[in-house]
Amino acid sequence: MSDELLSEGLRAIRPQVEAVVAGVIRPRAEEVDREGAWPEHSMHALAGAGLLGLQVPKRYGGHGQGLLALATVTESIGAACASSALCFGMHCVATAVIAARATPHHAERYLRPIAEGRHVTTLALSESGSGAHFYLPATTLSRDPDGRWVVEGGKQFVTNGGHADSYVVSLIGEARTAESGEFSCLVMDRDLRGMNWLDPWRGMGMHGNSSRAVRFEGVRVPAENLLGAEGDQNWYVFEVVAPYFLMAMAGTYLGLAQAAVDATIQHLRDRRYAHSGETLGEAPVLQHRLAEIWADVQKTRGLIYNAARLGDLGDPGFLPHIFACKAEAADTAVRVTNEALTLCGGSAYRENSQLARLLRDARASHVMSPTTDLLKQWTGRALLGLPLL
Ligand SMILES: Cc1cc2nc3c(=O)[nH]c(=O)nc-3n(C[C@H](O)[C@H](O)[C@H](O)COP(=O)(O)OP(=O)(O)OC[C@H]3O[C@@H](n4cnc5c(N)ncnc54)[C@H](O)[C@@H]3O)c2cc1C
Repeated sequence: MSDELLSEGLRAIRPQVEAVVAGVIRPRAEEVDREGAWPEHSMHALAGAGLLGLQVPKRYGGHGQGLLALATVTESIGAACASSALCFGMHCVATAVIAARATPHHAERYLRPIAEGRHVTTLALSESGSGAHFYLPATTLSRDPDGRWVVEGGKQFVTNGGHADSYVVSLIGEARTAESGEFSCLVMDRDLRGMNWLDPWRGMGMHGNSSRAVRFEGVRVPAENLLGAEGDQNWYVFEVVAPYFLMAMAGTYLGLAQAAVDATIQHLRDRRYAHSGETLGEAPVLQHRLAEIWADVQKTRGLIYNAARLGDLGDPGFLPHIFACKAEAADTAVRVTNEALTLCGGSAYRENSQLARLLRDARASHVMSPTTDLLKQWTGRALLGLPLL
């Protein structure tokens, strides 16, 4: 996006992001994928550049940025290392959830340390019982005689699992009578007694995101760690979790798709036949197919940036735009990486080539909830004026 269209704050941030991406994140992307290692170097460098506080309000020392910043920053990181973008994106979503109705306790204990680059947080909503329906947790919340919260249950697929300093966890009251989406959220510190991480889970892509399951057995959490009021999470799901999560993921997969287009352009220029002396790029059919994947990425970027701007402006009709973003970015990322792999031929099909990694990473986009099918259903329901859940 042209710099003139960005806010002053975002214009100031972009060169810092590009410096971290070029100097630290891109050079080690292949290693993150090969080793399946959590990208500590990426998070450390982003912290050092003051970027962990992207979503922290300015009054607590952060950048106070919104959806467009999240989309563009994750796009830049995602073009270099999708695992790093996912880890950073989930940190930003959880930060936005903590910030949405922060009390002085939340601000001092979580938001200021995040802004100072001393604290990584993340979102733990998914459970094996409800799968893609992340708004139906079965993990329970009750009170002990001292007024502390007691948490029983577990979460699955927690990005940054075992590495983050805190976890934003969804729960339901013991009576389990809450309607869809009417759950509560707590921010839980790492390593609390009764909080046990299961073995790391290894996906076909996104090898560095440290996706892990965790069990909670009678975990005690201070009363003041509740976010908002008990049972008011319908507001959080559609006003905070969905917009920030969908923008972080849309940006990540958009960046990834752009990287596939860039790699294709490079390959079509460089690959030259011995028999004719021509490059692949001189073949009209390949020029045509390149034009198609390039246009796919451009259209998706337009949709995402427009939706982010509507969200940041508080446009009351922004939800269907936001829902469409991740679904569209997922379709684009999978289609473009798949097509790029064909255009670049045998060298791209090599095990763990850059395009093979991009295709594997892109495939996570449809699986991560809200999944593509759920998002398209929500978009339709929003357009028809029907209840979303
Ligand atoms: C790389 C990665 C990172 C993740 N990080 C996090 C994280 O940080 N925090 C977190 O909380 N979760 C995270 N998740 C979990 C994720 O968001 C999903 O909740 C989880 O992958 C869904 O798992 P499932 O296989 O049980 O889905 P299932 O519920 O079994 O769904 C399987 C498929 O069926 C479809 N489906 C189900 N019900 C319907 C229906 N009624 N109509 C139409 N289609 C339907 C779904 O859309 C999906 O495509 C992550 C997942 C991955 C892969």
